[in-house]
Amino acid sequence: MKYWSLFLALLLPVAGLAQTKKFRVAIGGFMHESNSFNPAHTTLNDFRVQEGGAELLDLWSKSSSEVSGFVEGGRRQGLELVPTLSTGATPKGPLTKETYENIVGRLQQRIREAGKIDGLLLALHGAMVVDGIPHGDEETVRRLRAQLGAGFPIIVTHDFHANVSPEIVRLSSVLITYKQNPHLDTKDRGIQAATIMARMLRGEVKPVQTVVKPAMVYNIIFQNTYAEPLLPITNESIALEKNPKVLAVSVSGGYQYADVPFMGPSVVVVTDNDRDLGEREAKRLSDKLWANRDQIVLRLPDPAQAVQQAMAETKFPVTLMDTGDNIGGGSAGDSTFILDELVKQKATGWVVTIWDRAAVKAAVAAGIGGTFEMAVGGKTDNMHGKPVRVKGTVKSLHDGRYLETAIRHGGGRYHNQGLTAVIEVEGSTMDVKNLLVLNTERSTPNSLHQIVSLGIYPERQRILVAKGTIAPRAAYEPVSAKIIPVDSPGATAVNPARFKFQHVRDKLWGLE
Ligand SMILES: [Zn+2]
Repeated sequence: MKYWSLFLALLLPVAGLAQTKKFRVAIGGFMHESNSFNPAHTTLNDFRVQEGGAELLDLWSKSSSEVSGFVEGGRRQGLELVPTLSTGATPKGPLTKETYENIVGRLQQRIREAGKIDGLLLALHGAMVVDGIPHGDEETVRRLRAQLGAGFPIIVTHDFHANVSPEIVRLSSVLITYKQNPHLDTKDRGIQAATIMARMLRGEVKPVQTVVKPAMVYNIIFQNTYAEPLLPITNESIALEKNPKVLAVSVSGGYQYADVPFMGPSVVVVTDNDRDLGEREAKRLSDKLWANRDQIVLRLPDPAQAVQQAMAETKFPVTLMDTGDNIGGGSAGDSTFILDELVKQKATGWVVTIWDRAAVKAAVAAGIGGTFEMAVGGKTDNMHGKPVRVKGTVKSLHDGRYLETAIRHGGGRYHNQGLTAVIEVEGSTMDVKNLLVLNTERSTPNSLHQIVSLGIYPERQRILVAKGTIAPRAAYEPVSAKIIPVDSPGATAVNPARFKFQHVRDKLWGLE
């Protein structure tokens, strides 16, 4: 009897522990979309790094990113979350080797310091290029796999614009990309990743994954997942996840400005230990992307034609997408091709944003109400037009910080375009204004508050110019009578014929 009591006394706490065991899962992120054709390298100064303790979880939980989804999903699943390091930078040229080594080293160190962990949730972009390392994210997972060991659960999320390599699929336990472009499902994907992690750790599922890549470039201009011809494929990827054997289905468009071996779209299917099912479905969806070829042929107006078209419209505002200077795709942010046409063709009621620190300085020196006359933009490189001379008055000056409370592309909440000046350009009347926004930080037009916070009423303007391709649609569609994508030159020109590719796979449809 005595021995039995002792046995039970020893056994019960162990059984109780097994029931309520809290799995410890580390969270990290290292995001960059690197444009091989942008000569300006991305360096440490470009990254905003958040690292530290538990206080980060509350900060991260406030936005709508995948990291915020890791936190929410992890909490729902009763995981003990350990923040490590999360960082990102606005897209630009490839990272210097030194920058990459610094950040990846710190991430590895933070994970070591996290102590005993059961899993890792990792947000990577999927299109990071480093000097000498074509697939930066693959290299990151390779190092973490070596650090954490074979079989250790590593779940990776990627942007929709990921160039997924077969090797990163082999190295990670689960890989999930955003389904939507504009990226409005970032948080959902984070929650999905955390949920699969919890189920894996509880031994409920055994993920296996397959990637299939069609031999094509799926041009960025057709990567709107809310419109034909991509919409039905996106819907199928969502429907497939209703099958209990299917854990995640990712159809990603790829990022055509990275000149790397696995550039292009991909389909990744993660099943609960059913490799045949995964291979079959990945192949089927990949074939559907391939079958869209005749619907994704490029036919867009150039800047002169686009301005003409916009001026001839009867309903306003018309938004011109400056696809060649897609800041979110890694271009300079100071392209003048469309501004030049607006001025030449004497268009009225327009808003153009240009990244130009010297011009902001001149506006600040002139002061509100002061005269502004200067050649603006086209100063970063030789890909984005020549500086355009502009005459007008300084209408207002701003600190450039703005808040986005709605879910917009990428899920960001706090934005900062730096010290900003609004110039009322000649040709303006009491009713119709030509407004040039000059800012000091390259910032993507993914929130309308970028201009609303400056006192600009987009609905009263005739022509809005957004430096992007698909991402700004979530912000600009609700106020625009029409959106015209423009085949403008630049580091993110949508026409691949404008670039010389050297490292992509042979015979990719859409590159000729
Ligand atoms: Zn993206």
